[in-house]
Amino acid sequence: MEETLRTLAQPPLGELQLSRADSDRNGESRITEQFLETLWETAGTKVLPIAHGKAPVTAGALTLVTPSDIGGHGILVYLGRVNEGAVDAGNHVILAMLEEADPELAPLDQWLGLRDIATSLDARDAGLFVEAAAVANWHETTTHCPRCGTPTVVRDAGWVRQCPNDGSQHYPRTDAAIIVSIVDDEDRLLLGSAVAWPENRYSTLAGFVEPGESLEAAVIREVGEEAGIAVDSPQYLGSQPWPFPASLMLGFTAHAATTDVRPDLSEIRSLRWFTRAELFAELREGSIAVAGGVSIARALIERWYGGSLDEEPSRTGER
Ligand SMILES: [Zn+2]
Repeated sequence: MEETLRTLAQPPLGELQLSRADSDRNGESRITEQFLETLWETAGTKVLPIAHGKAPVTAGALTLVTPSDIGGHGILVYLGRVNEGAVDAGNHVILAMLEEADPELAPLDQWLGLRDIATSLDARDAGLFVEAAAVANWHETTTHCPRCGTPTVVRDAGWVRQCPNDGSQHYPRTDAAIIVSIVDDEDRLLLGSAVAWPENRYSTLAGFVEPGESLEAAVIREVGEEAGIAVDSPQYLGSQPWPFPASLMLGFTAHAATTDVRPDLSEIRSLRWFTRAELFAELREGSIAVAGGVSIARALIERWYGGSLDEEPSRTGER
């Protein structure tokens, strides 16, 4: 697939698959009266159908349909206008939430989840699918007013839910989570294996930011809780939305002030310090596995490693 140059930013972690986009959310249009209804009747409008987190995908690209292709649908959400230079440039795209995958729109085996397909999508499709998955998750789990329990009404082209009883407005939520590569004075990387994972799977430590907490404080607290060590100098490297169901992963690196690790055993089963040569050797012989290509964890590990984990480490280390 052709590489696109129209990514939003080039963070220190390089191009993160789910941070790509090639459309304009055009948020100021959401409050226009009858906006979705008008677009639904406008030639060129495209629809992205999603059922339970899955969208139709053909040959590594989203199958966008037209409003007239859609039979019954649930909530509609305005996703934005495709940028110049991308397929369907200038056209508006609407998310249609479906009860079930519709074989009239695409064969059922072509309905795929974002995580299954992200690396083959171009920037336009990655951006649309991430946005759609995230906002659809919010609608599915936020149907009632958190103040009084009354069912809320969808407005503003799918971006607000309002309570008809007390008038309160509710907006899509994103849960901030930090993820951190921890490096010691010998330039070794700390990786942990979570209790919930297969035993040989290792990754960088991560955790949700708590209310009233800065990102930097969350890095220090999470590492202290999960690994029992002190870290300092947390440095922000980049972010990636992770709508499974509602996270935004904020990537950091931090320096280990102490190295005598102690896994908490509730979330983390084991912790290990790796040199680059050790990591490469163990990955090659298959005695461990690390996070896959879409994850920001992979990007954090490869930034420390100095290149692709498929290749022997260079002596220069960090890029
Ligand atoms: Zn209410």
